[in-house]
Amino acid sequence: MHFAQQGNYMERTREDIISEVRAMVPALSLRMNGQPLVYLDNAATTQKPSQVLDFLNDALKERNANVHRSMYELSDLSTTAYENAREKVRSFINAPARENVIFTSGTTASINLVAACFCQRFVGKGDVILIEGDSHHSNIVPWQIAAERAGAEVQVIPTDVMLGEGRSGKVAVERLAELLTDKVKILAITQISNITGLLNPVGEIISLAHSRGIPVLVDGAQGIVHSPVDVQAMDCDFYAFSAHKIYGATGVGVLYGKKDLLEALPPYMGGGDMVETVTYQKTTYAQLPLKFEAGTPNFIGAASLLPALEFAEYLREGEVGQALKEEEARIKAFMEQTLCSDPEVEVYGTPMGDKAPIYTFNIKGINAGDLAQLLDKMGVAVRSGLMCAEPLLNSFGATSALRASFAPYNTLEEAQKFVKCLERARKMLA
Ligand code: PMP
Repeated sequence: MHFAQQGNYMERTREDIISEVRAMVPALSLRMNGQPLVYLDNAATTQKPSQVLDFLNDALKERNANVHRSMYELSDLSTTAYENAREKVRSFINAPARENVIFTSGTTASINLVAACFCQRFVGKGDVILIEGDSHHSNIVPWQIAAERAGAEVQVIPTDVMLGEGRSGKVAVERLAELLTDKVKILAITQISNITGLLNPVGEIISLAHSRGIPVLVDGAQGIVHSPVDVQAMDCDFYAFSAHKIYGATGVGVLYGKKDLLEALPPYMGGGDMVETVTYQKTTYAQLPLKFEAGTPNFIGAASLLPALEFAEYLREGEVGQALKEEEARIKAFMEQTLCSDPEVEVYGTPMGDKAPIYTFNIKGINAGDLAQLLDKMGVAVRSGLMCAEPLLNSFGATSALRASFAPYNTLEEAQKFVKCLERARKMLA
């Protein structure tokens, strides 16, 4: 399936291109509470293009058979679609081989897999697992569970806020060298924070950790959407992301791992498809990647990563990519001039220029949940609450916040509507 670009950017305006892109995503034309939907909760999940929706529907109608199990043609079609998606993921993140790409049920499942298996094999009493202060709960709690089982300790690379040295929310990478002691067995970091939108210097962090022989897992749940990912150039040992945040189906995720490490890990879940031979006494395990894919996978959802990643490429490349990048720059400039410059508003995550278009904030004296409810009445969908990053938000002194997160298909007009509606809601609550 190809997302051929029609015409020429010289002949088509940026508005034409944006309209064409938005027409491909049916949910963007919905109305909510009688208003056109302005969907700004893309960090939670993205809306799907017709190509993905049609693919899912066709797969259920025409290719619904279990994968890797049978000799009949329908099962072959299903297996081929599943493995084609694996190949698409491989090329999208530039993994060396299909063996490096494991399908899971999401970022959370991918991190849990590594935390459980890595700690079982390599982490013992008194060891340290190092995580970041800007982590999502999915990159905190699995390590705490695994550390408790191993008798190990979880330590945190603080942000400047946690150190009382600033309010940017940046991870204090300059502290990393002293934290990477001999006791640290693995480092789990975030490419782009789902709260601050800040891009961490993953390359710098990884090379420092590797200079001490410490492997690194990267939580790419937001990173995969907002930046090109080349796992070999990044040199991460593990990389996790979810399909649903990058225009694919829910209940599907990816774990990339370096082959020697994946081979060294014990299996995670036992069951069908992950075995070579089974007796009542002993089992030998399948080769990678199936060793980590026990049971019937979400084979239709996983297969939809093919059109989903093709759509992601279409949004990034050529004249469409250029037009959407320009629109994103306009959105960011507008948000900086309005929301981020308001003295009554604290936006978590600065500097503004160097971040993904994710704005988590509080307005002095106004409850975030109340604002979100009023915005919903005006057709604007934003997230409120802790955004699964309670320690980070608490460090800013917040117990809840509002978050507007933009995807490449959002427009400046939507940003303007959001800010206007926020003003109205704020006046109503003042
Ligand atoms: N990490 C980050 C940075 C995220 O933004 C999210 C989703 N909000 C996750 C992990 C968890 O992803 P999922 O719920 O799809 O497993």
